[in-house]
Amino acid sequence: MNKKSTPIRKCIGCMERKPQQELIRIVKTRSANSEISFEVLPPYHKKDGRSAYICKNCECFKIAKKNHKLEKSFSSRIPPEVYGTLEKAVLKNE
Ligand SMILES: [Zn+2]
Repeated sequence: MNKKSTPIRKCIGCMERKPQQELIRIVKTRSANSEISFEVLPPYHKKDGRSAYICKNCECFKIAKKNHKLEKSFSSRIPPEVYGTLEKAVLKNE
């Protein structure tokens, strides 16, 4: 068993703090040509970049989408397909 303490992250939907492994991670990345993209990843995926977390919960996703939580977290426009990818990830893991 891994006894290291679990990182706690805040869900952008319900704003509750939860162990990182219970959440889905969204990472903002910038490619070599400065193109910004967003990736939906499992929480422990090694990837640098600014991150937001959300519960594997449809309600949290709805709140996040309705209130533009991703836009606020990243101070950036979020392409609709990112919300689409995130919704699929949430539904799959719920
Ligand atoms: Zn939540």
